[in-house]
Amino acid sequence: MKSLSDVTFSNSFTSQFPGEFTNDATPRSTPKVLFSTVNPQPVKQPKILLWSNDLSKRLGLSTPPTHSDAEILSGNQIPESSTPYAACYGGHQFGNWAGQLGDGRAINLGEITDPQNKLWEIQLKGAGRTAYSRGADGRAVLRSSFREFIASEAMHHLGVPTTRALSLVDTGESVSRDMFYDGNVRAELGAITSRVAESFVRFGNFEILAAQQEKALLHKLMSWVVDRHYSHLSGKVDLLPLFFQEVCSRTAHMIAEWLRVGFVHGVMNTDNMSILGQTIDYGPYGWLESYDPLWTPNTTDLPGRRYCFAAQAPIAHWNLQRLGESLTVIGLTPSQLEEGLRIFRETFTEKYFKNMARKLGLKDLNPEEHKDFITELDQLMKSLELDYTLFFRALMKPSSSFESVFSISYKNLNVKEKESLFAWAKKYSDLLAAQNIQKDHQLENMKAANPAIVPRNFQLFEAYKLYEEKEDSSLMEKLFEKIQNPYEEPTEYDLLSQKRPDWAEDQPGSSTLSCSS
Ligand code: AMP
Ligand code: MG
Repeated sequence: MKSLSDVTFSNSFTSQFPGEFTNDATPRSTPKVLFSTVNPQPVKQPKILLWSNDLSKRLGLSTPPTHSDAEILSGNQIPESSTPYAACYGGHQFGNWAGQLGDGRAINLGEITDPQNKLWEIQLKGAGRTAYSRGADGRAVLRSSFREFIASEAMHHLGVPTTRALSLVDTGESVSRDMFYDGNVRAELGAITSRVAESFVRFGNFEILAAQQEKALLHKLMSWVVDRHYSHLSGKVDLLPLFFQEVCSRTAHMIAEWLRVGFVHGVMNTDNMSILGQTIDYGPYGWLESYDPLWTPNTTDLPGRRYCFAAQAPIAHWNLQRLGESLTVIGLTPSQLEEGLRIFRETFTEKYFKNMARKLGLKDLNPEEHKDFITELDQLMKSLELDYTLFFRALMKPSSSFESVFSISYKNLNVKEKESLFAWAKKYSDLLAAQNIQKDHQLENMKAANPAIVPRNFQLFEAYKLYEEKEDSSLMEKLFEKIQNPYEEPTEYDLLSQKRPDWAEDQPGSSTLSCSS
């Protein structure tokens, strides 16, 4: 077990690709390079608020963190072996090509090798300005950094592909933000999250090179990603289409998993799409409460609802199309592009129905045969305003206690609505009987597919508020502890497994979130 100061960082990205080694954070465009080096800006009084023991163990680091870990993870100390850099990428934001974006406030320290010889990139989000900050401050507020930390670790424990978070640092400095872009600028607590992933390469890293027609670099980036993360494809004759197909199927798997746990990302721009099919960049996200396919947690996404719950598969498809187009610059043919997208649609549908079967404890659900059954369930959850997380857990209870479902609705159900619930429940129990499923087997499957606890926006809001107002991090810690065991029914009467209370329905910062972070 060691501290980060004992670790040797490797710097494959900066040693393999052309970059600007100027340590200059003046905003600028950086054509023909993949990164520009920059050092984190020191902060006043760093304090590690949250630390992922689970991840630190995986990385072979000591727990609790040492003083030098805190220094490194707040950007106050730079490991000798590290070449800190910000990556250059582009992206389509809300459907439009936005040109060069890049790591505007995330600074990569390079990679460390875990005890199983696996490489992990570490980056500090909120560590100061880079060449890609475009006039912004390069910092992050604790309000949103806490949300990113919790969601990254929650998704990992839910079994959804994701980047991870190792530490959450309160920088002891304030950061000015206009939370709803309405002229109300406020000084907020500043923070730095250390994010950890096998790679932070996004669709946007490919798009920016394609936009510049940098064919050789684009090809090199693809080969580098393949050799490190799709190594079973290395050396294949049809490497390019095979690579694209696999990004498509991994992305399909990720989206089907989001739908299984009721996650809405909120900002599915192509710069927020990982080339590994992992969830990345947690901003104004949310977990569905009152079931509504059109729900988006992001006020910036209103009124279009481009990134609402039900749009996530079609949007991932649209984003893959943009990635595919970038790959046409190095030879992906239109039919190979279409084949990748077809694989996305096919994989998504298959995984979606598989997941719904798991959620219901059924052996299988067939997209043709059971389409109406699923549509009816969808309409039922929507019209009865059922809490998505609690509803599936309620289905695990004996049918005699079906009344418990009434209490997880966000409205007072009338007789007709209750009848529609019973009518669907009858069809469901007929299906269970027809598939001849053993009760304990059914419940075991359902328990593994339906989380009992997800980090709800109102809980994150409350936990953060307690820290902001009283410097009391106990609720933050409790929430962090609970989300690491999301499939276990809480034994005590536990606020964390309750549906959203009435006060939170219109609470700014809880029910309504923006991109301001
Ligand atoms: P996001 O919506 O968080 O994915 O951010 C989109 C782009 O804006 C990325 O290039 C970010 O690095 C950049 N960005 C967001 N907030 C800041 C900030 N406070 N300072 C510098 N760059 C930022
Ligand atoms: Mg982003």
